[in-house]
Amino acid sequence: MTFNIQFQIAGIVLMILVLSLWQKEKKLRFYSEGIFGVFLWAIFFCILLDILSIFALNYEEKIGTVLMTAACKIYLISIVYVVFMLLLYTMAGIYIKKRDIEKAMCFHSIPLLVDIVLVTVLPIYKYLEGGQIYTYGAGVQMTYFFSLFYLSDALYHTIRYRKRMTKKRREQVWFMLSAFIIAAVVQMFHKELLLIGFTMAVGMVFMYTKLENPESNLDKITDTFNLYAYQEYMNKLSGTEKDFSMIGVSIGGFRFVHENFGTHNENLLLRQIADFLSGLEGAIVFRDSQTEFILIFENGLLSEKAAERIRERFEEPWNIQIMNIDLQVYLTYLPSRYVVNSADEITEVLHYFMSESKKRGAGALICIDSEEISRKKDAENTEKELQWALENDKVEVYYQPIYSIKDGRFISMEALVRLFDREGKFMMPDLFIPIAEQNGMILELGKAVFRKVCSFMKNAELEQYGIEYVEVNLSVIQCMQDDLSKQLLETMKEYEMPPSRLNFEITETATANSESTLLHNMAEIIKAGGTFSLDDYGSGYSNLNYIIGFPFHIIKLDKNMVCSYFNSEKAKIAMKYTVSMVKELGIKMVAEGVEDEEQYNTMKELGIDFIQGYYFSKPLPEREVTDFLKLRNPK
Ligand code: C2E
Ligand code: CA
Ligand code: CA
Repeated sequence: MTFNIQFQIAGIVLMILVLSLWQKEKKLRFYSEGIFGVFLWAIFFCILLDILSIFALNYEEKIGTVLMTAACKIYLISIVYVVFMLLLYTMAGIYIKKRDIEKAMCFHSIPLLVDIVLVTVLPIYKYLEGGQIYTYGAGVQMTYFFSLFYLSDALYHTIRYRKRMTKKRREQVWFMLSAFIIAAVVQMFHKELLLIGFTMAVGMVFMYTKLENPESNLDKITDTFNLYAYQEYMNKLSGTEKDFSMIGVSIGGFRFVHENFGTHNENLLLRQIADFLSGLEGAIVFRDSQTEFILIFENGLLSEKAAERIRERFEEPWNIQIMNIDLQVYLTYLPSRYVVNSADEITEVLHYFMSESKKRGAGALICIDSEEISRKKDAENTEKELQWALENDKVEVYYQPIYSIKDGRFISMEALVRLFDREGKFMMPDLFIPIAEQNGMILELGKAVFRKVCSFMKNAELEQYGIEYVEVNLSVIQCMQDDLSKQLLETMKEYEMPPSRLNFEITETATANSESTLLHNMAEIIKAGGTFSLDDYGSGYSNLNYIIGFPFHIIKLDKNMVCSYFNSEKAKIAMKYTVSMVKELGIKMVAEGVEDEEQYNTMKELGIDFIQGYYFSKPLPEREVTDFLKLRNPK
């Protein structure tokens, strides 16, 4: 009796190892993942059948010729089946659409069926040579023939569609193909070396570790799926017509956690949230970025419930150790993939609204519907118009006079940008400034505005009408530039404009975002004679540190603060104290958005220095503002 099965045993051990790892991992049920799974099992059974057939050959007398032949034939068929699976695996890396893979699979399985029929009916015989038992005959030849056929087919696909495969996948398929071919050739010449099964097993170990290890789809910290898996999964979904819904979850408040509790606790908290999200029925959870997750639901009904549950959960605190921590959640809900025109755009649209959701405030839920999509289109349109206006010099600046109570006249004005689109229609800054800030065009826009202001001031000789300085808005993004002061000073020099004739308005967001850069820039401009205002005071967090820590000459009270003064007793008290404190610090104050006499008188009584608002004038174009000043601010 001869049992030449050392290689097969080694192969089986390897396959058991790979299969047990594979079965255990969390998977995404990709189509190619499924094919790989079948491929693994096919190889396992093929090697097992190899061993069984060797036993059957040795024990023919005991089990009978029929059973022996059957065992050998099943083994032979399993070899062709394995090579067929290699072809399918190759094709799964080429075709994205499930339908295409299925079509190809049907078509290419015909030779397999033919092989099954032929091997079943054709005879095989056994013979002994050099103390080993072998099989031969037409059935064996068929196996060689059809294996070779599928190998060539796989080779053809890898060469013909190489561009459609990822590099990694291409390398793996090449590796497997060469391993199969080499093992088959070696076995053809050295019949005693039964290498095929073992080679296949080694090949699978490589494939598993390099390409198909489901762990490479996981995010190590949260144990959710990572971005790579997300892309693969979206590819899979876009290949089908099946509807699905998505929830984008952005979480705020982690900076505080990071600064106060460190990375370790931050990760624990993230893990807690990820576990909660993964526990939502029907959710497949992907980690999109540090504190953002994307949930995909193949069942739309479950997604609606999930969104509600997430919102509710974030109303409660989370805890690390014994601390309770409040986190903010911003949700973006895509109820159906068909809200978006093409599958390729889904991720882009989702990300767009995820960043929008943060602007809409904590607990906000944006439901991406046709209305939101058209709003997005409007924003894209605005971006195009903005580009056009910049390229075609359609940027204009309006001026809103600022009244000094002490002097009883207008001593300054705020420069406010206006754009005209291709149809000559007016575009308001609230619409295009946020967009310009997002895409960086604000830098160019800021420069254009500042040139216009300097040029107007120079030509109109505004000082003769009593205008001592003009206030110019600087965006957060402008304030992040190292050389901002240099740029501004150069432009002023070009227009022979003394820096003392300019005041720059900055918001709290700018001071919070680029403290050291901003302080340096402010110092340079102040040294040259310029001044700064803190804009929109009272609209955000109104941190007193900014007033104390930055060299502001003026604080501008936001129009909402002015309004709320009349609505609430508390706001009244807060305002009174703010004004007296700011005055004591030697800083001047402007009340913005003053619309009527009552407001004007109240601000005056409070001791505010300057008034800006529709009560005196709306922002006016160059010509009109000069006329206004001529009339109201006589020499
Ligand atoms: P802001 O700096 O707070 O400007 C004051 C805004 O209040 C202006 O809106 C002005 O027209 C409006 N306003 C003035 N008086 C009244 C009033 O009595 N009642 C009401 N309801 N509103 C009044 P505008 O011109 O639409 O500008 C909006 C925002 O766009 C500005 O808010 C500013 O943040 C930004 N912006 C405007 N021009 C520029 C610019 O050249 N550069 C930058 N970076 N931002 C600008
Ligand atoms: Ca302003
Ligand atoms: Ca303001």
